[in-house]
Amino acid sequence: MFDVKDKAVIVTGGGGVLCGAVAKDLASRGAKVCIVDYHEESAKRKAEEINEAGGQAWGVKGNVLETEAMKAAFDFAVEKMGCVDVLINGAGGNRKEATTSEQMSFFDIPADAIRSVFDLNFLGTVIPSQIIGKYMCENSGGVILNVSSMNAFRPLTKIAAYSAAKAAVSNFTQWLAVHMCQNYSDNIRVNALAPGFFLTEQNRFLLTEEKTGDLTPRGKTIIDHTPMDRFGDAEDLCGTVLWLVSDASKFVTGIVVPVDGGFSAFSGV
Ligand code: NAD
Repeated sequence: MFDVKDKAVIVTGGGGVLCGAVAKDLASRGAKVCIVDYHEESAKRKAEEINEAGGQAWGVKGNVLETEAMKAAFDFAVEKMGCVDVLINGAGGNRKEATTSEQMSFFDIPADAIRSVFDLNFLGTVIPSQIIGKYMCENSGGVILNVSSMNAFRPLTKIAAYSAAKAAVSNFTQWLAVHMCQNYSDNIRVNALAPGFFLTEQNRFLLTEEKTGDLTPRGKTIIDHTPMDRFGDAEDLCGTVLWLVSDASKFVTGIVVPVDGGFSAFSGV
């Protein structure tokens, strides 16, 4: 039921912390993995690590915001893996320039910063889904797994653009799930993960003090509101990913699954 052996998986943003761990885990279970990342070096390095551990992986440069670049990355993936069964839309993140702070009020955040965060997370999910989703329709099957966030359920302070963009990703997940079933095939499933708080490069500046590495007041508030009392480890996502990309979830489409140590369940009291 949970078998992913020989499944061909594209992971965008797989050069990063969370989706890199997901790619490694799927490869360790026999999946073939093509890592597509804006940072070519990270994509190739992650693929090398997987291959050294006995898996099958390829790394390729690809910008999820450019249709032609994604088509080229997709062609590369099909050439290497023979087909594509699963798309994990992992590329995403926040930017300091689109975050309110003592130095930057909401009223002064440049539109370009908001646009770039919104585009990366929302359009960066839509564009690969168009290209690879079309292929899945032509081949009558596949799984798309998006990466949303806690802030899609309720916005987090400071990060208006990122919260709005991830809310859009959750909404799009439901929309595309229905669209695929109604217009193409009920064998194309679309779901999303909503990770809680994982300490990675894109949020380190918000959660830990640069000089000491101690928790910032925001980092401490998060831990205080996480019943499991810790940040997530990237590996904590892997079981839920395995469930959502395998036949174990074959009657599941259009859902957004929190993986958050209880954060979204806790009222704070
Ligand atoms: P990360 O920064 O380690 O990884 C993101 C990867 O995306 C990087 O390798 C980066 O090079 C790549 N990328 C950025 N722009 C790209 C583009 N235009 N085209 C292709 N690749 C691009 O971040 P992460 O924490 O591992 O985040 C992975 C996903 O999980 C993101 O969608 C993020 O928003 C989401 N998420 C993270 C957390 C968390 O706590 N870290 C929580 C909720 C959701």
